[in-house]
Amino acid sequence: MSGPTPGAEPGPWREVAAGVYVCRAEPAAVNLGLIVGSEAALVVDTGSSPAQGRLVRDATSRVTAVPVQAAAATHWHYDHCFGMAGFADLETFAHESVRERLMAPETARIAADLGVEVHALAPPAREIAVAAAVDLGGRRVELVHLGPGHTDGDIVVVVPAADIVFAGDLIESAGPPWYGNDSYPHDWPTTLDSVIGLMTEKTIAVPGHGDPVGREFVFEQRGRVAAVSTEIRRLAESGVPESEALDAGSWPFAVGHVADGIKPGYQQLVSEERKSLPLL
Ligand SMILES: [Zn+2]
Repeated sequence: MSGPTPGAEPGPWREVAAGVYVCRAEPAAVNLGLIVGSEAALVVDTGSSPAQGRLVRDATSRVTAVPVQAAAATHWHYDHCFGMAGFADLETFAHESVRERLMAPETARIAADLGVEVHALAPPAREIAVAAAVDLGGRRVELVHLGPGHTDGDIVVVVPAADIVFAGDLIESAGPPWYGNDSYPHDWPTTLDSVIGLMTEKTIAVPGHGDPVGREFVFEQRGRVAAVSTEIRRLAESGVPESEALDAGSWPFAVGHVADGIKPGYQQLVSEERKSLPLL
């Protein structure tokens, strides 16, 4: 791999709300968060390798003297989760689906491509089904699974007192959101409705990639994400085969971002049909 490596030093922390910081880490320009309480701190997303995770943890001492108590991954993707091993002696949180994801052959392939030793990756110590809370000393952090979307295990990290939400890759502002073979195109809009439900007009949302945004932005992106779902449904219902859907469809995002979402979008419609009861 040329250019920035998954073991590279993260960029500088920028304060985005009182006691809440964001830095950017390569190679995916992912946003990593740091939430500081009076006694402890929590890191949101951990970087792209165990080595980068350790660097992120070390870098917290540049903005706070309180120790890191916990780290949370918003989802299993490498840029968010592969650094978790750097926090393995602390409380580590992720959705309950993440452990299995990290043991899957796909993860081994991704790690090999990055030059990361797959056996060095660490699963979360604390698995979230619905929600968890952490007290950092005068500052409560909530970790919530609002439903599937970008993946089946997206976690949103909420700091109520700072009026800020870390949305992971449910939202992106550096470019369109990414659809993968592990995305849930038809659930994503509803999950974003729940994110919007956590926000007021003053709330800041930190996306997985790109600058922090406000509720208007999330609302607009939710509309486009819903349009992708509607378009997949329309194509499937009009008999367009999955293999032709990308070319035949009209998409609200660059096709490269949507392409890998077509297959799960079609498959999830089929499983929806199977679930429905015969009414007549
Ligand atoms: Zn992702």
